[in-house]
Amino acid sequence: MLAFDKALEIILDDVKRTGTELIPYEESLSRVLAEDITIDSDMPPFDKAAMDGYACRKSDLGTELEVLGMIAAGDVPRLKVGPGQCVKIMTGAMVPEGADTVIMSEFTKATVPGFIRFTGEKTASNIAYRAEELRAGDRVLSKGVRIFPQHIAILSAAGHTRVLVAKRVRAGIISTGDELVEPSFRPEPGKIRNSNGHQLAAQVTACGCTPNYMGIVADDKGATDHVIKKGLAENDVVILSGGVSAGDFDFVPEVLQHNGVNIMFQKVAVKPGRPTVYGRKEKVHVFGLPGNPVSSFINFETFVKPLLFAMMGSHLQPLEIKMPMAVDFNRKKADRQEYVPVHISISGEITPVRYRGSAHIHAICEANGLMRIPIGVFKIKRGAKTYVRPL
Ligand code: AMP
Ligand code: MG
Repeated sequence: MLAFDKALEIILDDVKRTGTELIPYEESLSRVLAEDITIDSDMPPFDKAAMDGYACRKSDLGTELEVLGMIAAGDVPRLKVGPGQCVKIMTGAMVPEGADTVIMSEFTKATVPGFIRFTGEKTASNIAYRAEELRAGDRVLSKGVRIFPQHIAILSAAGHTRVLVAKRVRAGIISTGDELVEPSFRPEPGKIRNSNGHQLAAQVTACGCTPNYMGIVADDKGATDHVIKKGLAENDVVILSGGVSAGDFDFVPEVLQHNGVNIMFQKVAVKPGRPTVYGRKEKVHVFGLPGNPVSSFINFETFVKPLLFAMMGSHLQPLEIKMPMAVDFNRKKADRQEYVPVHISISGEITPVRYRGSAHIHAICEANGLMRIPIGVFKIKRGAKTYVRPL
């Protein structure tokens, strides 16, 4: 059976990119940057007081200082600080000529009106020097970065108000299964609510992509064919759930093939989610994920998500941290790479959560991490370190 790494390699082998668009930077949160950004001025742009206090000469700390005036943030100082002098200054204000130190207000006392004295023992300069963070022309953000609030701060500081980003991937989501009803209905006997479709749509949204929820399709070849045709025509990626295993009504791979999808694999050595289908028709990437909700959740995280980012020009490197087990862990078979929902404690120890298998999606809600158990590993002893991907 195909190993996980090999399957991911196949998916990422010939990625169809989405193209780019220019958007207002305020709307760029969670998008992927498609240009390098340089800053147009030094940061800070001038020597800046880092504290509220008095700007003076370090060599004068032992003497009484005459207060010449005050500089607020935003002012351009017209005063020059000479020996025995100081200027009251606010955090963020330009440090006046002649001063090399800002003493904190807390370490001063007024002696006579218009004069102060430093009461501390020593002081840092408390000045943020011009260009100590960045120089004009420095590259501050690189193509492929996913935009988070801290990146919005840098775009703001650089005055880069229109930003080139990758177009969002449009992902069609199709839930297959005669047993499924939409969540607003109470299921009749034998039926269950469709959770995968909406979970997958949310996972797509969380990646900064556009979900196109295409509803539930019955386990019927004709109906499946119809919705797959529509899915291939409308989307960059099609994600189906259910109908990919060995049941009598699992038509998805056959119908995909019939529609010209070149299926590149149908089984991967992972648990949960072995019967995962991946293929492509021209520019459209297609996944058939197993119907069990944990399988579809995890295989989205491990297979679909890296593709969505790659299509937008970003190389996703999921954080995987080695952390010690709080308990012994055993499994009977080790022929597949397995993900197990776990709880990561504050002190960084791993305990598997109660988990009844790939249908038990609630276990993922109780977990804050997924532990990865490589092929060949049967036991992980308490205290031994294991690979965990925080959720
Ligand atoms: P399948 O892969 O179609 O054989 O489905 C495997 C299991 O997952 C069955 O118990 C299905 O009822 C369940 N299942 C399939 N699709 C969904 C869905 N959209 N939401 C929740 N459970 C599902
Ligand atoms: Mg089914």
